[in-house]
Formats: sequence, structure tokens, C-alpha cells
Amino acid sequence: MQHIIDRFVKYITIDTQSNPNNPAFPSTEKQWDLAKVLVDELKEIGLEDVTLDDNCYIMATLPSNVDFEVPTIGFIAHIDTSPDYTGTNVKPQFHPNYNGEDIVLNKEENIILSPSYFEDLLLYKGQTLITTDGTTLLGADDKAGIAEIVSAMEYLIEHPEIKHGKIRIGFTPDEEVGKGAHLFDVDAFGAEWAYTMDGSQVGELEYENFNAAGGKVTINGKIVHPGYAKGKMINSMSIASDFIKGLPSNEVPEQTTGYEGFFHLHSMNGEVEKTELQYIIRDHDMDLFEKRKKQFQEVADKLNKELGGNLIEVEIKDQYFNMREKIEPVMHIVDIAEEAMKQVGITPLIKAIRGGTDGSQLSYKGLPCPNIFAGGHNFHGRYEYVAAESLQLATDVIVNIAQLTAEKAK
Ligand SMILES: [Zn+2]
Repeated sequence: MQHIIDRFVKYITIDTQSNPNNPAFPSTEKQWDLAKVLVDELKEIGLEDVTLDDNCYIMATLPSNVDFEVPTIGFIAHIDTSPDYTGTNVKPQFHPNYNGEDIVLNKEENIILSPSYFEDLLLYKGQTLITTDGTTLLGADDKAGIAEIVSAMEYLIEHPEIKHGKIRIGFTPDEEVGKGAHLFDVDAFGAEWAYTMDGSQVGELEYENFNAAGGKVTINGKIVHPGYAKGKMINSMSIASDFIKGLPSNEVPEQTTGYEGFFHLHSMNGEVEKTELQYIIRDHDMDLFEKRKKQFQEVADKLNKELGGNLIEVEIKDQYFNMREKIEPVMHIVDIAEEAMKQVGITPLIKAIRGGTDGSQLSYKGLPCPNIFAGGHNFHGRYEYVAAESLQLATDVIVNIAQLTAEKAK
């Protein structure tokens, strides 16, 4: 297991934070740093057709070792880490044989990783936990996924007695800023289906995600000297507050779970003359999603009517869709992943993602792509952690998927 730990540590100590405000590809130059290391390593372990394109996408091939037709499958992970928290100078801490008690991440700053708050920690009692030192994120999202895929390919190369078809692997930049799938060349990848290794807890297997849209509300007011404003001033911020109240107050991220959708106001910028609200609109169910978008528009229409003018403009843009529609016709790809997990004693946890993945976009580009656990918890912040045992389990699952796909094609 030390081998995969070392590999994981090598990746997380290279800063690859992406930047949502840079339209360039990749959004940060430093993502190349890890990409180049990976290209060398993939060649070194013996993969073929290793490519790194101009946009920082890596692809590579493990050729089939059987003489019959097996569908080509793929495994995908992302190079970047979240813009939400710094990934500079990650100093991983190791907690072998974790005893289930509080972990002091940082003594000076009194940062504690506690199972009384993060109950999931207790799942890993007795295992080797890898945490941060409280000053950065860890980057298990998604360098755990990369380490697992590379380790699985290495294992398959070293164990030719395990029979498998052609396997393609892909590492993408800028997943965390929603662009990981944008320039992914599905044709060049050439797989019939793939899996992103980008989930959290051991056992997670996901093939449903939100339907997603962004909603921008612009409210135009009128500024007048406050001393002479009666009947003249229109305060766009007051109207914004009416708009906010016009949406159901309990359908927000902090009050919903499971398959419940929401409206989420994530940014508000205003002065008397003009206020801008930025929302995201989410629902797993396509009909409910369409209803939500309609409802959003109706709140504006109603207020415009009351105010007697078109003061409120609404712009709604679809962002991504639930991959379920693309996975259901090929459910055997989920079945194989489930079976691969059961083979190593994992109970699959199938649930709907309350977000999107690269896989949802890839599924709509013609590459059905469920998401499998990579093992980490508390992504995008200082409390992120992963158990070394989880890295190993995910690696085993990849190997099993490769083997099962060949067995079923016989
Ligand atoms: Zn991720």
C-alpha cells in the first residue's frame, strides 16, 4: 500500500488549483506541472499512445491482452483542485491505525478534525488516514482518482494473467470550474463507455445528477436625491428583496436533500440604480426542472406587472442535464461496477449526485460515464481526508471492472 500512498502524495504536493475567472484552457498554467509528471509516469509504467494535447488533456491506452472482441472502456479523473481553497504547499499528515478520536490538524491554529462533527471518520477506524495540516485542501478530489487509475493500469501491466480488453484513460483539466468535459475529445478517446473516479465515500456509484441552469436577474431602479424622492425613486435593491421572497424560502440548498431540487442565490450585487442576482436552479427530475425555470420567470413577470414596467429582466441558461437518461439504456455498465465492488466486499451505495460531474457532460457527448468513489471526504477545504485503504479499494475496483468487462464479452 505504501506504493499508492507515495504516488498519491507525489500528485497532491503539486499545486493544480483552477481559476473560474480565466476563460483560457487550462485556466491555470500550473495544471501543466502535474500533467507533465503524469505523461512521463504513464509512459514509464508501459502505457501506449500517451498524449497531452494543447488544452492539457491527457489520454493513454492499455492494449487488450485477449484475442476476442471486448468493448473498449475508459477511466477518467481530473487534474485540477477546487478554486474554493488553496492547494499551495499541501503537507499531508498520516494517521496510521486511526483510533476514532479527534485529530489535531493544526495545533497553533487549533484546527481539529473531529468525528463528533464529521461522523464519517468512524468508518475508517483502524485504517491509515491521510489529512491536511489544516492550512490547505488535500486534493484527494481528484488526485485520489488519478492515483487509483494509474495504480490499476500498473497492476494490470504487471499481471498479464488478468485478462482485459482495450482500456483508455483520460485526465482532464478544469473540472472544478465546470469545463473538464468541454474540450474532451470523445472520438479520440474512442471508448464505448467510461467511469469517472471522482466520488467520495467507498462504495459510491452514481449515475444520476442534477439538471442545472443558471438564472441571472437584473433589476433596474431609478436614483433620485433621497430628500426629493417621494414617488420618484425606484430602489432596485428593495425590488430584489421582493424577488427573493417570491421564490419558496424552503427550496434552498441548506434545506433540501436527496431528490429535492432548489433555487440557490449565490451572488447579489446592488445599488439603488441597479441590482443583479445570480441564481442556480437545480432538479433531478426534468419536468420539475422545467417547472422551476418557469416559476423563476413568473416571479419576475408578476413583480413587473405590479410595478407597472419592465424593471426586472430574467435570463435563464441551461448548464447541464441529468445523465440518467443516457445511462439507463446501457445499465449493464452500472451493473459491472456494482459487481466489481461486491467482489472486494464493498456494498455499493447508489445515490443521486446533488451536483454535476464531468461524466454528465460526457454522457451527453456520447460517452456514457457513471461516477465511482475515489475515497476522499470533505472535498474543497481544510478538513479533506482520505484513507489509504480506500485508495487501494478503488484501485481494485478498476482492475475488477476491466476483468469483468472481458469476461462478459467472451
Ligand atoms: Zn472532483
